[in-house]
Amino acid sequence: MESTIGEILMSNNNYRFFKTYSISLNDKEKENLYNEYVLRVALSSGGFETPLSYDDYFNQDGFYERINMRCLHCRYRQTLHFSIYKHLIRSNEITFPSDICPKCNKEHFVPEDIYNTLMNNIIK
Ligand SMILES: [Zn+2]
Repeated sequence: MESTIGEILMSNNNYRFFKTYSISLNDKEKENLYNEYVLRVALSSGGFETPLSYDDYFNQDGFYERINMRCLHCRYRQTLHFSIYKHLIRSNEITFPSDICPKCNKEHFVPEDIYNTLMNNIIK
């Protein structure tokens, strides 16, 4: 299957206006994470939902991809799972994530790269 230029760029965590990065986990960290996940599924579904298998859990699209977000209003900074935004970016519904800041509740929570670009332009 041929990849488009867009897909090649995205596979390297490069998006048009911002970058993401991938974390790595050792076996112990993966085991802890998976156990927490299984417990969470059991608690939230009352034991009625079957959790993903270990392999399926870690093979989820974009599982390791993270994005640094920052608030243009209060400057609060947080690292998030990029998978919550990825499908919107890929389907071109949005050019970059913008969200509600968990600290000040204003809709000014953007990728840190966007934050830096905007802040530099304002200061200059
Ligand atoms: Zn804020």
